[in-house]
Amino acid sequence: MTQLFHIKTFGCQMNKHDSDSISKTLLDKGYRQSDSIDDAHIILINTCAVREKAEEKALAFIGRLAALRRKKPDIIAGVIGCLAQEKGMNLLKRFPHLDLVLGPRNIYRIDKFISQITKGRERISSLDLACEPTSFPNYNGYLRGRVKTFLKIMEGCDNFCSYCIVPFVRGRETSLAAKEIVDEAKYLVSQEIKEITLIGQNVNSYNLKNKDLPTFPGLLKELDSIADLERLRFTTSHPKDLSDELIGSFVELRSLCPHIHLPVQSGSDNILKLMNRGYTRGKYIGLIERLRKTRPDMTITSDMIVGFPGERERDFEDSLRLIEEIEFDNLFSFKYSERPGIKALQLPGRIEKEEKQRRLSMLQERQRGITLSKNNLLEGTIQEILVEGPGKRGDDQLTGRTLGNKVVNFPARTNLKGQLVRVKIVKALQNSLLGELVDRQDHKVY
Ligand code: SAM
Ligand code: SF4
Repeated sequence: MTQLFHIKTFGCQMNKHDSDSISKTLLDKGYRQSDSIDDAHIILINTCAVREKAEEKALAFIGRLAALRRKKPDIIAGVIGCLAQEKGMNLLKRFPHLDLVLGPRNIYRIDKFISQITKGRERISSLDLACEPTSFPNYNGYLRGRVKTFLKIMEGCDNFCSYCIVPFVRGRETSLAAKEIVDEAKYLVSQEIKEITLIGQNVNSYNLKNKDLPTFPGLLKELDSIADLERLRFTTSHPKDLSDELIGSFVELRSLCPHIHLPVQSGSDNILKLMNRGYTRGKYIGLIERLRKTRPDMTITSDMIVGFPGERERDFEDSLRLIEEIEFDNLFSFKYSERPGIKALQLPGRIEKEEKQRRLSMLQERQRGITLSKNNLLEGTIQEILVEGPGKRGDDQLTGRTLGNKVVNFPARTNLKGQLVRVKIVKALQNSLLGELVDRQDHKVY
């Protein structure tokens, strides 16, 4: 009997991409995917460990699986991803209903582990951080219905920011071979994918340690020459490795979209140093100036942490001033979360929970105003939209993104999914834009 699998994913785009890779591997081996946990024989939970809250959510979900396992003792339950790597064998001890614990660098062997468990009912953990990332089998039809997807170009991270668990759960930074990446991109385009986002913890350090291999701008150039690839994006970039050559790519390359996610984390030099980020506030502002000079229409988004140990009121105010000075299009902001093994645990000046919340609310309130005023600037402009499918309002509305990655909803009677269309922005909202379809002469066409 064909076995059904279901993957529940918590966390970032890396985790989503890993879940896709596992799904393709299992489909290739004859398993079938199920949308529901209730009829699945194999249940995999792909988890995040970057912040405590994400971890708690995943642990609660794993705990609830015990009841399902009691009802259906033959199912296989596994935890994969960053949390699996962080907790390791302790997960098997704490949750007797788990069969499998797999770190993010061990997922490519998933099918072998599952058949081992099916045959012998053994409990398996595989947590080798030294495993080289490899490519996964493709499964024709897997991407049906999608117009965009992620493509992983590197694994792990060597930066050791003092608050971050990633280097401990994803291992050392390893770049995938350029040929493999380009071949994969060509395959994706052959499957009707129009937009590819290259992902990695720090994509602009791609091959930086190996001078004989193409660096990140070189890789982008190769991908840009794939004729039917309409849009190319990447995330995440680290400010310390953002070169002038990469900034230049935003004007030189046809398909590279004018959006950069450039996490700043703090506006205070004192905190940036304690975070081990490798740049100053001034250097960061200089990068933004160069980016905007090169591409004035560039969308710029960032990440910020509040309540890092030792963050004084004046350090926090530096962060507030920075977001006002730069005017990010959007900001993802987080309360500092203590994670096992990180350097910041040794720092004095722990900030109370309530104070972290106060700072976060204040920062987010300011950013909301900035985001809306940036969106307002687009009212009346004509934007190129890649149509992703029906909008939230159903069949009479389509949704897509601008080149700068902003969501646009607009009324349309025909299905334009996968097409690039011209849309006039008629109203800016907090999290999206409303538009109307126009033709080459800017006449309304729906
Ligand atoms: N590699 C990317 C970079 O350097 O920007 C991002 C990786 S991390 C998974 C995504 C974001 O989570 C970070 O940019 C940071 O803002 C946030 N983050 C990481 N560790 C955190 C922690 N201990 N507490 C709060 N936020 C954290
Ligand atoms: Fe974490 Fe810093 Fe690496 Fe990003 S660059 S994954 S924040 S250690």
